Amino acid sequence: MPALYNLTLQEVHNLLRNRDASSVEITQACLDRISQVESKINAFVTVTGELALQQARQVDDNRSYDQGSALAGIPFQSKDVICTRGIRTTCSSRMLENFFPPYDATVMEKIYANHGVLLGKGNMDEFAMGSSTEHSAFYPTRNPWDTSRVPGGSSGGSAAAVAADEVYYALGSDTGGSIRQPASLCGIVALKPTYGLVSRYGLIAFASSLDQIGPMTKSVADAALVLNAVAGYDPRDSTSINTPIPDYSKFLTGEANGMRVGVPKEFFGEGTQPGVLEAVNTALNVLEGLGVSVEETTLPSTRYATACYHIIAPSECSANLARYDGVKFGHSNSEAASIWDAMEMTRQEGFGPEVKRRIMLGAYALSSGYYDAYYLKAQKVRTLISRELDEAFQKYDVLVTPSSPTVAFGLGEKTANPLEMYLSDICNISANMAGTPAISVPCGFSDGLPVGMQLMGPALSEPALIRLGYAYEQSCRWRLSRPHI
Ligand code: GLN
Repeated sequence: MPALYNLTLQEVHNLLRNRDASSVEITQACLDRISQVESKINAFVTVTGELALQQARQVDDNRSYDQGSALAGIPFQSKDVICTRGIRTTCSSRMLENFFPPYDATVMEKIYANHGVLLGKGNMDEFAMGSSTEHSAFYPTRNPWDTSRVPGGSSGGSAAAVAADEVYYALGSDTGGSIRQPASLCGIVALKPTYGLVSRYGLIAFASSLDQIGPMTKSVADAALVLNAVAGYDPRDSTSINTPIPDYSKFLTGEANGMRVGVPKEFFGEGTQPGVLEAVNTALNVLEGLGVSVEETTLPSTRYATACYHIIAPSECSANLARYDGVKFGHSNSEAASIWDAMEMTRQEGFGPEVKRRIMLGAYALSSGYYDAYYLKAQKVRTLISRELDEAFQKYDVLVTPSSPTVAFGLGEKTANPLEMYLSDICNISANMAGTPAISVPCGFSDGLPVGMQLMGPALSEPALIRLGYAYEQSCRWRLSRPHI
């Protein structure tokens, strides 16, 4: 019998329903697990143990797990970029080190309405800028499979917490791969929804035209359950899509016969580790065995995706982060002689080097004289990338790629070279550019480290991604391997 903390969200829900465990028991099991492993992993910025036990008690008293939601009574972690009322929300930045939001993000309201139990806030790259969680202003998170390696980023704390069995699932944010890449490096599942499917209200903005919140889970079935709870129209987010939300767990059929898969060759090129190629190619054979047709295709504009992203995302970030001026909230320098000096000092002290780099890049790309050459051009390339994907989706239901060109790399290996770090998301960026959904599913190991396979589909194709991802997962059971911490 595996320990309580080893189970998936769905398994633990069944225990609750059958009265084989209480919410307090499973919450305590996670807290014990946290005290056992957290000092080696550093996945949390804040652990809300008392609040969690209080929420769990209430769920047990009301038997909320009998009322339909699979999330009731089950502990989760929320990335520290998602506002939680009265609970410190830092973005892993000195700027927001003492920020206690006066309101909950819509996703938090939705999970609370489902009687979820908040166990804490996830460490991340500062303001979600990075691919290794080493840009956290507090401490790096470590990969549960090998603590000398990074968990990926920017939602590295969330990926590591789920992989280390500290929580059953987490909510992360994905602007250019930030849930899929760490999920891949930590051997878990992450689903980036269609842009607008999940409300961004209360998600602290990085690049507003790209940001999207998504579930990070131990299985595809669990991702469907979390998506059920968080998807849906929100009038407080002007980019929210007003569309009926299906029950995503209906697509967990275990069969994928007749689906058409395209394999864009640009994602299998130079820079992709042989062990990653081997695992993904083996997974493609498994898909064929499930009756899926697999065909090579091409997305030539992919090679511009990283360059294009690193114009658009910093441009939006330079505008979004202009609000941190030390006046209304966040860090504030009170020693400067004038308001202008105070603002300058506030930003100098509050932001780390990567955030400053992005703000400067963005301000440059948007400045008069350079706007057309950089920002406008990047927007045109973005349209090309989207069109190419649209065309591919006329022919294929799903495109399959690696989720990351490499397995988890060593701490410190890429911090000195920002460009090398930026290339970590090369497989993920296109879906953000196009606003389309993508899921990362574990597909094996290379030298003992997890490899992830990415499935991409057209807008609102979450049902197809869940169906194919689940059928694959059922035929392989990679998720049964757990890290030894
Ligand atoms: N790693 C990418 C970056 O550094 C993406 C981050 C994200 O998705 N938030 O910008």
